[in-house]
Amino acid sequence: MTKVIELNVKSNYIAEYKKGYPLINKDTIMNTNALKEEGSIVHLIDENRQFITKGYYGKQNKGLGWVLTHNKTEAIDFAFFKSRLEVALNARQSFYKNTETTAFRVFNGEGDGIGGFTIDYFDGYYLINWYSAGIYSFKDHVISAIDELCDYKAIYEKKRFDTKGQYIDDDDFVKGTRGEFPIIVKENGMNYAVYLNDGAMVGIFLDQRKVRKAIRDEYSKGKNVLNTFSYTGAFSVAAAHGGAMKTTNVDLAKRSKSKTIEQFSVNSIDYEQQDIKVMDVFEYFKYAKRKELKFDVVVLDPPSFARSKKHTFSTAKDYPALIKDTIAITEKNGVIVASTNNASFGMRKFKGFVDKAFKEMNTNYKILEEFSLPSDFKTNPIFPQGNYLKVLIVEKR
Ligand code: SAH
Repeated sequence: MTKVIELNVKSNYIAEYKKGYPLINKDTIMNTNALKEEGSIVHLIDENRQFITKGYYGKQNKGLGWVLTHNKTEAIDFAFFKSRLEVALNARQSFYKNTETTAFRVFNGEGDGIGGFTIDYFDGYYLINWYSAGIYSFKDHVISAIDELCDYKAIYEKKRFDTKGQYIDDDDFVKGTRGEFPIIVKENGMNYAVYLNDGAMVGIFLDQRKVRKAIRDEYSKGKNVLNTFSYTGAFSVAAAHGGAMKTTNVDLAKRSKSKTIEQFSVNSIDYEQQDIKVMDVFEYFKYAKRKELKFDVVVLDPPSFARSKKHTFSTAKDYPALIKDTIAITEKNGVIVASTNNASFGMRKFKGFVDKAFKEMNTNYKILEEFSLPSDFKTNPIFPQGNYLKVLIVEKR
């Protein structure tokens, strides 16, 4: 058996770990130099060398790993991974039964008791996202647990842990029968084309399910919709299903155009009635102003960081300016769907961004609805950063 590494917790953080804080944060540990090999089991101990909790070493952003159990004698073995997956699967039974939605999250990292990896379900296929070399060292246990507990067509994986914490682009197939992509998954009766073997992103972000439904059911009928940072146009598909007059999709990535055409097509929506622009959003704002274009609904869902030829965008810094640009091209009584997945700030600060933007534009507004992660993206109440998604539906008054 490999030797357990003891990590000395700084005294003012002991109480947090005892309460169940799951992330082993660099700043809370005195002897980080004891850590050598990712995947090692670590015991967090206090100044009297008393056991607090145990976890594994795996580098992920500022984290050095995740807490696994408070039970000193519980082994981190196949049975451990299987038990946690079993609980997670039971919590998703209603999702498996729902034939209108065939894509959802099965295991959400620390929200389901083991930080560092997630498992998504796409109509019979399982996709594992690994966020550190440390958790990846337990791969065999996780695969065996899926083998014992799930029926599947195939398992795929994304390794998101190169030296910069980015996606490692190699064959994502793990086992089963290779799929023919795209597969078409359903979400609340809508179709989405999904690719599990083509880069870091699969074509749809499952965490926005409730927002797509709201856009379809409450905000689109007869409306002129602008979808910025549109990627494959998933929000626009929802808007078109909801009876939008037209959608305009703006994304910088060249392949977003064919991907958006495909999403419309698998829904039998005529893409030629839609506008699909490969363009920098910030250029589009200027263009729209010049042409005096205005929209009834504008969706804003930028990445946390983005770099284009002319702009570097960081949500934490530039979101208010982005909302101001949006307000300028939104009709009175129009609606802005403002979204961010930046975990470094919470809903209160995000509302502050919206407030700042409207004040600086001398415009009134009303927040109509707010969204966070859906229930399959289970979070741990003691780790609010894990609840990263923030979406505000705001009416311009
Ligand atoms: N809203 C999308 C997901 C957006 S992912 C959805 O719900 O599916 C972020 C997207 O922003 C990527 O497709 C990326 O190409 C695009 N992007 C990043 N910077 C951009 C910019 N300056 N202008 C336009 N698109 C940009």
